[in-house]
Amino acid sequence: MSYDSNNIFAKILRGEIQAKKVYEDEFALAFNDISPKAPVHVLVIPKGPYSTYDDFVNSADEAEIVGFQRAISKVLNVTGVTQTGYRLISNAGMDAHQEVPHYHVHILGGHPLGPLVCK
Ligand code: 5GP
Repeated sequence: MSYDSNNIFAKILRGEIQAKKVYEDEFALAFNDISPKAPVHVLVIPKGPYSTYDDFVNSADEAEIVGFQRAISKVLNVTGVTQTGYRLISNAGMDAHQEVPHYHVHILGGHPLGPLVCK
């Protein structure tokens, strides 16, 4: 999937759309999902222009990849879900119903999440 710089998360990164920021460093921005599916529902996005996990891992340099993973861990600690448990999800492409074509990781937690559901 080629990267579309007009996507909503690119606009949030450029400050053109507001989001409730949870964490930021040189590699990542984390903010609350606008339509939360759990008491904790944070989206973590890399600052570079990547559309999916696969694009990110194959296109980003090692510092970005490591920095992004560490940023996710920081957000897990900021939100407190390391104590009670959490789920990380990254949707990619049509079958996963990826809505926003900028690579992102959902952090879900804050209550029992139930089993992973696949239809
Ligand atoms: P996807 O289906 O692409 O994995 O998930 C995209 C997520 O982005 C959805 O959970 C949706 O609620 C969230 N989202 C869409 N537009 C906005 C927005 O403008 N602001 C924020 N904070 N979240 C958004």
